[in-house]
Amino acid sequence: MALCARLTPTLTFVLVFSLQCHLQRQRDGFIIEGSPSAGQIDNLARTGENWSRFFPMREPIRIVFRSASIPAAYDSRKKVIGLDPNAKSDSARHELAHALLDLNRPDTPYWLHEGLAYFLESNAAACGSNASIPQWLIDRLTSGKIDLSDVDLKSWESVDLSSRERAIQVAARSSAFVLFVWQKGQLERFLKTSYQTRQLYDVPAALQWPNDWQAEFRTWLRRGEFRRALAGC
Ligand SMILES: [Zn+2]
Repeated sequence: MALCARLTPTLTFVLVFSLQCHLQRQRDGFIIEGSPSAGQIDNLARTGENWSRFFPMREPIRIVFRSASIPAAYDSRKKVIGLDPNAKSDSARHELAHALLDLNRPDTPYWLHEGLAYFLESNAAACGSNASIPQWLIDRLTSGKIDLSDVDLKSWESVDLSSRERAIQVAARSSAFVLFVWQKGQLERFLKTSYQTRQLYDVPAALQWPNDWQAEFRTWLRRGEFRRALAGC
């Protein structure tokens, strides 16, 4: 930044802008391009710290701040988060969750990616604290349009995501599932086990959940427990 400040009086705005875009700074576990606000960097750094027990692999995450039609996105091919400088903090946390999960478990299926990102976007997830899923997903889950009896993780994995509506149905169910795991006090163990288990749907058995855990989860969904903020770990 000092370089830019020194050059600003003598160079055109365009040149300064392109210089800024190519400057990279490493800070708090991030490689940052562009010009984020101090608040955005603090939010990301604090969040990354809060979630450290979920994501033991801690390589720096690349974040490019630039104006874009999509305010926040994670590109798993390039391993980079793109954020609009005005992106909301929950959008930034959502994309950070995707990046950290991808780093710790490459090729994670869609359902866990979205379920976890929607759960984590509004929660610091400190042990013992209350956590909830976004209200718009609660609204979906209570709309009667989502089959709450479908709790087969194997089928979630193979779901056809070509329509946005179908994708959202999976994300709504899976974010509720992450809340369910959270209030069981098992989210950290679930994730760490998933990093070492090839098939995600084998994780409940690896954690020695009772065979009827799906019946328990169905009842939990039917009772609408996902509408509340729940204490967990
Ligand atoms: Zn997402």
